[in-house]
Amino acid sequence: MKYEPVIGLEIHCELKTKTKIFCGCATGFGAEQNTHVCPVCLGLPGVLPTVNKRVVEFAIKAGLATNCHINGYSKFDRKNYYYPDLPKNWQTSQYDLPIAEHGWVDIDVDGEKKRVRLTRIHMEEDAGKLVHSGTTIKDSITSDVDYNRTGVPLLEIVSEPDMHSAEEARVYMEKIKAIMEYIDVSNCKMEEGNLRADVNVSLRPAGTKELGTRTEMKNINSFKGLVDAIDYEIDRQTDVLEDGGHVVQETRTWDPARGITLSMRSKENAHDYRYMPEPDLPPIVTSEETIEKYRRELPELPDARRARLEKDYGLSDYDAGILTSTRAMAEYYDAVVSTGADPKLAANWMMGDLAKALNEDGIEIQKSPVDAKRLGEMIQLISKGTISGKIAKKVFKEMWTNPDAPEKIVKDKGLVQITDTSAIEGVVDEVIAKNEKAVNDYKGGNKKAIGALVGQVMKATKGKANPQMVNKMLAQKLNG
Ligand code: ADP
Ligand code: ZN
Ligand code: MG
Repeated sequence: MKYEPVIGLEIHCELKTKTKIFCGCATGFGAEQNTHVCPVCLGLPGVLPTVNKRVVEFAIKAGLATNCHINGYSKFDRKNYYYPDLPKNWQTSQYDLPIAEHGWVDIDVDGEKKRVRLTRIHMEEDAGKLVHSGTTIKDSITSDVDYNRTGVPLLEIVSEPDMHSAEEARVYMEKIKAIMEYIDVSNCKMEEGNLRADVNVSLRPAGTKELGTRTEMKNINSFKGLVDAIDYEIDRQTDVLEDGGHVVQETRTWDPARGITLSMRSKENAHDYRYMPEPDLPPIVTSEETIEKYRRELPELPDARRARLEKDYGLSDYDAGILTSTRAMAEYYDAVVSTGADPKLAANWMMGDLAKALNEDGIEIQKSPVDAKRLGEMIQLISKGTISGKIAKKVFKEMWTNPDAPEKIVKDKGLVQITDTSAIEGVVDEVIAKNEKAVNDYKGGNKKAIGALVGQVMKATKGKANPQMVNKMLAQKLNG
């Protein structure tokens, strides 16, 4: 039988507020253990939480940016939690009245647009961090708890089970990441745990509607992990079903080192959490006016920006999609174009030589040794005819390690394009004299033979002759 994978994601996104969700402790990453703590986030008896207004603002903005309905009346609930990294023994979260519901985002997979529906977005507090004495909990004698992260604000963004391959899930998560970066509510650094996903996977016979039994893999914090874990789980469940077995509803962990998922515990259901309304926090009431104010404050979002690049600069849908897929890339592109550089050349250079160089050195575009301004200046040198596109590749390579302005590099290295007719003419005459065969071929009707001659001229000038001029001059002389 053929099975169709069904995938739903719960994405946890750490918000970049200065302070925690229910107390005034700092949220910064990497501080000394247990220095960002107070009686509230340590869950000491008799203390009262207060809601950080920024968290509500960020949650509403996230909801608006993902086409959700915002609940003007929303509340917090307690979810039972038995692990020591949340010392209250419950997690303050939201249950039946989340801040945002019923949204959607569009994704592109293999050139096709697909809509993924969002069930809800709710606010909650993060747990702390267990620091085991061994490598895993199983081989540890003791575990310490670092409460710095306890109470750091999180959004949980829950999708409908609308994805059907690892690739769709990856693209969806990238889209959510991009949107959160654009609206500036999270740093979205996956390696610091700012963005992580619980991934739910099930199979069903192809062509049927009813959902199969799912497993859930917790806390996946890289795109590679996401794809590998889903692919592994699809294979594993397929084997189970093909052997006539049943998939067990359970929570599994993804072991990136071994590339497998392992059973962790049977999956809890909502009733296991024993949700109850949080008695220490008033409901969150947000007026239409405030919601509209937040909507007006939203920046241009990825889809709109993509459409703008297509319309204003004539970029292809594909190119515009890539250039707007992260906020950093979109800002870099706009900065290159604002120097006066040709928009299409800018797109080609970013997706070509720049992307390749960044990738090879493992550098993020924000830290590119060739910044937007210098790339823009270099592209203008091409447009002005100071250098050819081919020489530009050399210049770009040099710029990677040399912080000088491109114009200076071109001068210092003697790379200025030769556009002086008499200088080119001398070389052209010489090449014609020395390449009798190609000349005769051309005159005999093989027009392609001119290519070899152009090549010779370019070689003799170390690539610096203006190729259009060379072509024209050769043709004139050979036809004349
Ligand atoms: P929880 O996992 O916290 O109990 P839910 O039951 O609401 O919460 O489901 C969470 C996620 O699991 C959602 O993203 C949803 O789309 C997805 N999901 C639910 N059922 C299935 C299924 N049968 N197959 C795949 N994903 C599923
Ligand atoms: Zn605190
Ligand atoms: Mg879940």
